[in-house]
Amino acid sequence: MTPNPSRDSLDTLTFDNRFVRQLPADPEPRNFRRQVSGACYSRVMPTKVTAPELVAFSKEAARLIGLDEATCRSDIFTQVFTGNLILPGMDPFAMCYGGHQFGNWAGQLGDGRAINLGEVVDKDSGRWILQLKGAGPTPYSRTADGLAVLRSSIREFLCSEAMFHLGVPTTRALSLTLTGEPVERDMFYDGHPKEEPGAVVCRMAPSFTRFGNFQILSAREETDLLKHLMTYTVKTDFPHLNPDAKDIWEIWFREICHRTMEMVTHWMRVGFVHGVMNTDNMSILGQTIDYGPYGWLEDYDPRWTPNTTDASGRRYAFGNQPQIALWNLGQLANAILPVVGHADPLQSALDDTINTYSVAYKRMMAEKLGFETFEGVNDDTIINGLLALFQMAETDYTIFFRRLARLDTDALENSGDGVENRVREFLTPALYRPEQADDLYLEKMARWFKIYGLRLQEDALDADERIKRMNRVNPKYVLRNYLAQTAIEKAEAGDYSMVWELLDLIRHPYDTQKGKEAFAEKRPEWARHKPGCSMLSCSS
Ligand code: AMP
Ligand code: MG
Repeated sequence: MTPNPSRDSLDTLTFDNRFVRQLPADPEPRNFRRQVSGACYSRVMPTKVTAPELVAFSKEAARLIGLDEATCRSDIFTQVFTGNLILPGMDPFAMCYGGHQFGNWAGQLGDGRAINLGEVVDKDSGRWILQLKGAGPTPYSRTADGLAVLRSSIREFLCSEAMFHLGVPTTRALSLTLTGEPVERDMFYDGHPKEEPGAVVCRMAPSFTRFGNFQILSAREETDLLKHLMTYTVKTDFPHLNPDAKDIWEIWFREICHRTMEMVTHWMRVGFVHGVMNTDNMSILGQTIDYGPYGWLEDYDPRWTPNTTDASGRRYAFGNQPQIALWNLGQLANAILPVVGHADPLQSALDDTINTYSVAYKRMMAEKLGFETFEGVNDDTIINGLLALFQMAETDYTIFFRRLARLDTDALENSGDGVENRVREFLTPALYRPEQADDLYLEKMARWFKIYGLRLQEDALDADERIKRMNRVNPKYVLRNYLAQTAIEKAEAGDYSMVWELLDLIRHPYDTQKGKEAFAEKRPEWARHKPGCSMLSCSS
């Protein structure tokens, strides 16, 4: 901590709180749980905490709003971003939204433990809403406490930044602090509550508006307010669109569809499973938001979900994500329909989205395989053939594709009788159960590699260029579930070094980093069924 903290740098933050200025507020100033109608938000102050302590901050996120590292290490920064100190210009509020949870309409949800401090306008990077998660109850807290624990806060903090550096649209994380106060959680809802350290993450995004913000107004038939929020959103969050265009709602909805599916395509590329794709967790900007029981694919399994709450239905499993995103877009279309007036343009946008996603997914998979372009049916067969082979032996998705760039298909081709041994050698670092690589599997894999090799020969790209391109889309390092869990266990024991180490690692996910090989290896067996590594609940 800086001994004599100066407020200079934080005082340079310029606030322009457009959301509260331009949209109607809940007139009730008191902070108690309730249904809030006729308003987009409620003003609410964060709850003060006794012993705030900085765990980590993201210097890249800080830079976006003009804060340097010294400021982030100052006492005042910790005070502000645990909610103990409100800076001049801040006007804290919680948003009102609803949502479909696991396919069912859940009514009003809202920012139950998120408090927006204010909107910073940076001359270079634009508009950033600063939002504390875990800073105490709001009118939308329902039966919960408005708090967050260290384990889930580390996961959100690290993953937001990891996703950013991977090139996946996401909200950002500025800081991670401890409140100094315990929070009770029953991690697996099985009657074993435990006290855990309370924590706050400060998130940043140009907008935290979700599909659910529109849904709640529509469900309440507050059509004028719905239109007001839609107009506000177009003008503020989609400033490149012409709000006066005749078919503005269709144009806007098409862009939301496009951005949402682009985000999901990235998830499929890097092996990210969100875990709770409820419509209240869908950003209108197509950014990944609300990092809860998310996970990173280890062995390629489209049916895998990290979320134990979803284990029976697998609604939000890896392979279902595109379809669920579309379903959620359909719910958004229903919500805005009373203002749009006609279903046809929305339906046709949804229909087109199915096709454009399919093309985008194939193009993305072709890039992972190192093809210059996706070449139709033949490449479809290659992609589907590979994914089917992954079902025969547990294969680490990240390691397989990263290694693929290094595969010498000519040498494989010329290895004659020894080809299956070479295939085994190539695959072993990615195989969770090497014994599954039996003769039949190796024979099929060898055949797939042969076809793949021929396809590469036909491609216009030379090998060096291909390898370079593959290494730009196939990460070497992702935030493996067991790595985050190991950092959490150390942090809970008071050692934050691995949080910083992982934060550093994920800054350059596509570069081979000296001394960091262990972080690129497959999940160790001890983590296969360990809570926090393979099983997560919504408790956070
Ligand atoms: P989630 O599944 O985390 O997206 O949360 C669904 C809803 O529950 C949102 O309205 C959250 O704000 C709210 N919520 C989740 N956890 C808490 C908590 N500890 N306190 C208050 N509200 C919460
Ligand atoms: Mg949420």
